[in-house]
Amino acid sequence: MKIIMLGAPGAGKGTQAKMIANKYGIPHISTGDIFRANIKEGTELGRKAKEYMDQGLLVPDELTVDLVVDRLQKEDCANGFILDGFPRTISQAEALKNANQTLDFAIDVDVPDESIVSRMAGRRACVGCGATYHIKYNAPKTEGVCDVCGKELILRDDDKAETVQKRLKVYHDQTQPLIDYYKEVGILRTVDGTQNMDDVFAAIVTILGA
Ligand code: ADP
Ligand code: AMP
Repeated sequence: MKIIMLGAPGAGKGTQAKMIANKYGIPHISTGDIFRANIKEGTELGRKAKEYMDQGLLVPDELTVDLVVDRLQKEDCANGFILDGFPRTISQAEALKNANQTLDFAIDVDVPDESIVSRMAGRRACVGCGATYHIKYNAPKTEGVCDVCGKELILRDDDKAETVQKRLKVYHDQTQPLIDYYKEVGILRTVDGTQNMDDVFAAIVTILGA
């Protein structure tokens, strides 16, 4: 089962991808998480990626594509994977195709821009394990503390209001064209991402099969 998640930043791709990975026993591969882990570890990749991420821009393909193509060749991807945050451009989608990765589903989590702004403003991420919460829709048991590892929850730098608008523009200009691209390929499935998390997940399971 080879799946990619499409949708605006904050649409709920990561939230759903984790649930899918759990249910179907396939790895969840998030390019955003990989970059953030590199930033935390202070690697050269992290240093370069951060320059773009902080501005709400996409990290260049030279730093992104090989990383993903190599990751998909690992043993744990043999029975499938769920890609979250990649591809984000037509050229990345072409790179995936050229790497002979035949996808089964492209799931578009559809959420209008108005809701995206509050999703990102309320998102909190754990500095320790990267778990994601929302102050209103998916609150941790104790405010500001991760349920999973007990570390502090923070607002991501790129979720600050000024960067969110930029990321939305980048999404519409560079990533949204993938919706038509995968419609053409015949694997696009759209779910209404404005529903609560469990209802979005139920809609995805209906598509993927129980
Ligand atoms: P993405 O991976 O697409 O950027 P996330 O999965 O991190 O988005 O979700 C963005 C924010 O919205 C998070 O704070 C998350 O807890 C919250 N969220 C995700 N799905 C829903 C939903 N269906 N309803 C309300 N809030 C949601
Ligand atoms: P995300 O966690 O998916 O919201 O990604 C956070 C940031 O990481 C994005 O705003 C980009 O700067 C960068 N990023 C993640 N995935 C990609 C990708 N496929 N191509 C380019 N940049 C990416």
